[in-house]
Amino acid sequence: MNITVVGTGYVGLVVGACFAENGNTVICVDKDAAKVRALQKGKIPIYEPGLEELVTRNRQEGRLTFTTTLPRAVRSSQVIFIAVGTPEAEDGSADLQHVLGVARDVARAMNGYKVVVDKSTVPVGTAEKVREAIRRETTHPFSVVSNPEFLKQGAAVDDFLRPDRVVIGADDPRGAEVMRELYAPFTRTGAPIMVMDTPSAELCKYAANAMLATRISFMNEVAHVCEQYGANVDEVRRAVASDKRIGAAFLFPGCGYGGSCFPKDVKAILKFSKDKGYAFKILEAVEQVNALQKQLLVGKMQRHFGSLKGKTIGVWGLAFKPRTDDMREAPAITIISALLEQGAKVQAYDPEATDVARKHFGSKVSYARKSYEALVDADALALVTEWNEFREPDFARMRKLMKAPVVFDGRNIYNPQQMKAHGFTYFSIGR
Ligand code: NAD
Repeated sequence: MNITVVGTGYVGLVVGACFAENGNTVICVDKDAAKVRALQKGKIPIYEPGLEELVTRNRQEGRLTFTTTLPRAVRSSQVIFIAVGTPEAEDGSADLQHVLGVARDVARAMNGYKVVVDKSTVPVGTAEKVREAIRRETTHPFSVVSNPEFLKQGAAVDDFLRPDRVVIGADDPRGAEVMRELYAPFTRTGAPIMVMDTPSAELCKYAANAMLATRISFMNEVAHVCEQYGANVDEVRRAVASDKRIGAAFLFPGCGYGGSCFPKDVKAILKFSKDKGYAFKILEAVEQVNALQKQLLVGKMQRHFGSLKGKTIGVWGLAFKPRTDDMREAPAITIISALLEQGAKVQAYDPEATDVARKHFGSKVSYARKSYEALVDADALALVTEWNEFREPDFARMRKLMKAPVVFDGRNIYNPQQMKAHGFTYFSIGR
């Protein structure tokens, strides 16, 4: 099939490259000319494992091209995916200006039947708005389909190529049939293609993300109770997770969830529920708990040091999670901002997110090129993102480099007894 994907961010680029990998001809469109120029030269603007090989191969095979010009792409495509950002507006709702703007531009370029797919995460009712926006601009026939994306950054290519399920919201059979055909190669292993009405499809994505955020905040609250009673949250978590009705995923306590999805999607579902007069009480608490959780590590540091003024804190991990360079809503932002505000000096290291951090903090933070460099003369280490390379460090070397052997572990990746044996004063979460 000939496909256009509008928006070449973390989602659009993966979607475009993966459809091309299955033999489709894909044109990726982005309004960011610098990004498109880089992609045309084979440079990938983000870090996502496996993506570069996929883009390079499909570009060389001529199945994947990049442009800033939407109309030509639309005219040559049967299916157009909208994968642009839906950032949080001031009132917490998802800002739909990019999605609706693209819908109008697509409509103006139509030259026959097209399937227009909402791939961006959009509130319930958006498919109807997109349909209306297109109808005002064209007399050509079209279908609007909602196809929320469940990929995880850091494992996005694999998630897209081998999905747990594909959700398709379609209000007419023609659009649904095109989507079934398009996704058939991705679901040979038996993953279901779930076809439903568009409001249900739109809500699926928010309900899934809100559930995952709830599990995280729930376990963070359990960790607080553990601390009060001297229980160990690791033991509690393992026992809870072994219950087949519960399962192990997303039950790790830590210094808060971040990223471009959970915080924004929880806010959006709160807002569109409230718009209909319903206060989504659990999610209000999920959000509050997460906001407090992001401040937890700095609170522990304050209690340990008294004042953080003049202290040097090494920070390991800046990205909101491992295997990405994305720092949107990352706990590291809250933590580093609080440290700087209180007069501490920050020496930070991240395997992939340093350039992004530099745009955020400029010269207020010093950036280490190697993990151990961030520890030189540090009064403490704050571990914020659990990259694999931090899991088995050389503790003797760490102790030698640091001014004092103090570790604040925001992801519980070290063993408290071992840390004590290595001579560290060690703080973690819920243990
Ligand atoms: P992103 O910010 O990385 O990328 C968005 C891209 O769209 C940017 O390159 C931007 O230049 C481009 N763009 C914006 N307006 C445009 C326009 N009018 N024409 C052409 N290009 C335009 O965003 P993302 O992380 O890829 O997320 C995109 C959507 O997918 C969001 O709705 C998000 O909630 C959803 N989503 C994200 C993830 C994730 O893990 N990042 C997962 C599932 C769903």
